[in-house]
Amino acid sequence: MLLEQGDTVVPFFVVTAGEVQIVRPSGTDETFVTGIGPGQFTGEANMISGRRALVRIRASQTGEVIELDRANVLALVQTDGELSEILMRAFILRRLSLVARGLGDVVLVGSNHSAGTLRIKEFLSRNSHPYSYIDLDRDADVQNLLDHFHIAAADVPVLICRGEAVLRNPTNQQVAGCLGFNDAIDQTHVRDLVIVGAGPSGLAAAVYGASEGLDVLVLETNSPGGQAGSSSKIENYLGFPTGVSGQELAGRAYTQAQKFGAQVMIAKGATRLACDRKPYAVELDNGARIPARAVVIATGVEYRRLPLENLARLEGAGVYYAATFVEAQLCGEEEVIVVGGGNSAGQAAVFLAQTAKRVHILVRSGGLAETMSRYLIRRIEETPAIVLRPYTEIVALEGGDHLERVRWRNNQTGKIEANNISHVFIMTGAVPNTRWLNGCVALDVTGFIKTGPDLSREDLSIASWPLARPPHLFETSLPGVFAVGDVRSGSVKRVASAVGEGSIAVSFVHKVLHE
Ligand SMILES: Cc1cc2nc3c(=O)[nH]c(=O)nc-3n(C[C@H](O)[C@H](O)[C@H](O)COP(=O)(O)OP(=O)(O)OC[C@H]3O[C@@H](n4cnc5c(N)ncnc54)[C@H](O)[C@@H]3O)c2cc1C
Repeated sequence: MLLEQGDTVVPFFVVTAGEVQIVRPSGTDETFVTGIGPGQFTGEANMISGRRALVRIRASQTGEVIELDRANVLALVQTDGELSEILMRAFILRRLSLVARGLGDVVLVGSNHSAGTLRIKEFLSRNSHPYSYIDLDRDADVQNLLDHFHIAAADVPVLICRGEAVLRNPTNQQVAGCLGFNDAIDQTHVRDLVIVGAGPSGLAAAVYGASEGLDVLVLETNSPGGQAGSSSKIENYLGFPTGVSGQELAGRAYTQAQKFGAQVMIAKGATRLACDRKPYAVELDNGARIPARAVVIATGVEYRRLPLENLARLEGAGVYYAATFVEAQLCGEEEVIVVGGGNSAGQAAVFLAQTAKRVHILVRSGGLAETMSRYLIRRIEETPAIVLRPYTEIVALEGGDHLERVRWRNNQTGKIEANNISHVFIMTGAVPNTRWLNGCVALDVTGFIKTGPDLSREDLSIASWPLARPPHLFETSLPGVFAVGDVRSGSVKRVASAVGEGSIAVSFVHKVLHE
């Protein structure tokens, strides 16, 4: 036995003679994943992330292997371009294959009618963590499993970790804890750079910071990828002529940041910035304090919620804020509503129209021309399954455990219509995630962070700016604290600009660290 599922120290093996087998244990059974022969090597994405082993590795015959520890593998991929390409490619593709085949260390027992199930599925998918899913409503032999683990149907969603721990309707933090997502991360030493938020801007800052030798820690409330991670297809990001799903882009950036040595804490949000003395410290929702010599705030924005009764109860049970394959599967061929006239609404409508019977786009204004890119408007016009409803807004959401009916009003005629539609995608603009900053940095009137030349003399005097030099580009009213991407006042709300800002900020972080 070379490695057991759940082991925290995961070595890398090159087989020189014989064969090793990769298997996924489940109870007393094993599922064969693959065999590795002479000249081939073991390892998948957790070789880079430092997380627990998802599989068991054992020799199937007498043989010989070369063993390297993870630190040596990381050193190899950082210094040897040729080996890096071979290893990184194999690790990423192997993880994708495990995800596609549902071969991991967790089983999710849930129901498509439960918001908690959708949340956990999204959390696992967006962290590229493979899982098998058992649907309480559809899988006939689920009763044996429920009996074995003493689970009642009312407990779902239930997560069974490595066949040992049974978590009933766990929070994302509990899922991350059980799967050991953050186990390898030291939370005590002073970091050169703490990045808050792992959307495109935060991940870009992590890639550039870590690749240039900084000791980087990224904190993420939820999963890597941010808003971009919830996009089904990004078509205007440079270098992807056929488009790229937000999740794929985020997954690659996440692995890339880790390859250079950045550490990323998942499901650990910043709740406060301790800014009264240096080094600054970022406080986490579990009470921990991470000291930092410089900070990049990349917390982006989150969607506005519609002022509707029942909304909170139906979120995840018919009301969604992202349109990815997970939600599209839930909608099947039914009718859906997309609310909003921006690019994210347009993308969602075009994507959902591939499977849904009809997609209604509801906008309060008279059309899309002022808010959506021309290429998306054209695509909407050319898609017969999409119906644009201008001057229209939702006035009521109705249903029990799941959304069943939507009432919308045409504001020109005043007419209210009831429709038996069970899926609504809300994409109606966003508010910045800056509440946690609690007065540490200057904000504009809408709550976005002011930086660099946007900071007026008055802003700097109120903030008691202590230095002779003015703030650098993307530097906030607090020296050494930067803001990038959508959370920054005046930024262009696009993936490319978020990535650009994250990478540029790092060059100023270097200057500040030498000050
Ligand atoms: C559905 C959709 C489709 C889109 N399509 C396109 C497109 O095709 N092309 C394009 O250019 N742009 C597109 N955009 C816009 C683009 O995704 C954003 O401009 C980009 O993601 C901004 O990146 P960011 O890193 O600044 O912020 P975000 O992507 O918002 O990421 C911020 C991250 O910070 C985390 N966070 C927030 N608060 C905290 C905290 N206190 N502690 C720790 N972490 C925290 C969040 O969980 C999140 O992961 C789309 C957006 C959406 C929603």
